Amino acid sequence: MIRNDWKLEEIKDIFYKPVLELVYEAATIHRQYNETGEVQVCTLLSVKTGGCAEDCAYCPQAARYHTNVKAQKLLAVDEVLKNALEAKESGSTRFCMGAAWREIRDNRDFDNVLEMVKGVNNMGMEVCATLGMLTPEQAEKLKNAGLYAYNHNLDTSADHYDQIITTRKYSDRLDTLENVRKSGISVCSGGIIGMGETEYDRISMLHTLATLPQHPESVPVNALVPVEGTPLENQEKVSVWEMVRMIATARVLMPKAMVRLSAGRVRMTTEEQALCFLAGANSIFAGDKLLTTPNPGTIEDKAMFQLLGLKPRKSFKIEELEEIALY
Ligand code: SF4
Repeated sequence: MIRNDWKLEEIKDIFYKPVLELVYEAATIHRQYNETGEVQVCTLLSVKTGGCAEDCAYCPQAARYHTNVKAQKLLAVDEVLKNALEAKESGSTRFCMGAAWREIRDNRDFDNVLEMVKGVNNMGMEVCATLGMLTPEQAEKLKNAGLYAYNHNLDTSADHYDQIITTRKYSDRLDTLENVRKSGISVCSGGIIGMGETEYDRISMLHTLATLPQHPESVPVNALVPVEGTPLENQEKVSVWEMVRMIATARVLMPKAMVRLSAGRVRMTTEEQALCFLAGANSIFAGDKLLTTPNPGTIEDKAMFQLLGLKPRKSFKIEELEEIALY
């Protein structure tokens, strides 16, 4: 049953089950609601890099930190479309464009992003964007251009938020998610673990996501990839068991969501990633870079799919069109 009235205590009980029992429960729910063995492959491209005025403690793109990231203005529409086509040809069915902006501004850059959205949408891929905060009017424009999904992560719990970001509030995050939801664009929202939060913070973030009026269709679970020059550069690596607990709990709470095994894969073995798929993860990001941080290459991922017998998932968009054509 899909529920969005989860109590914190109930989530705690799920989260703290013996790990193999938790994985078994998550795998059982995953089997009921999704095609197990199918994993969606997505590509994330940074279309505008660095120089961001925000202070997200994990992010090498914040202008105030001294990292190796070179700021780059918005890419040309053609260049982005070329990247999208390459991603499609190598098996991605979802293409996400990320811009290091605090919020969308109504200017020429936004007009160009709308052109990118139209172009990628015409390729038959699910097109997603992560452009910072947005207003209802901007969400509407993105929807009309063909945007399928909008990513805006909660990052962490409401309590831990001011340890990670001080330049905006948790309520700003939630307002943006509401604007996205109201426009009819599908919602992608998750978080990052390994940023000095407690287990309570992890449970609390999952509680916020699972009690939204409608679950996000997509929930990325990221492990911090610490970057030199950021305040979190010395954070310890999270263990696979911590990732498995997050993924499995997310799967139990939000059975139909695409749970995306996102940043941090580069530091995981194939066996560890297999455990995450068993626990209910059903999507990965492909390509050797995730915005600005390293990610396993396409060849390694293809070998993993073959070894584990995984099938790349069709885009939801194509599936919806096929269903319409049947009637
Ligand atoms: S996460 Fe986004 S908003 Fe935060 S500093 Fe990085 S680019 Fe800016």
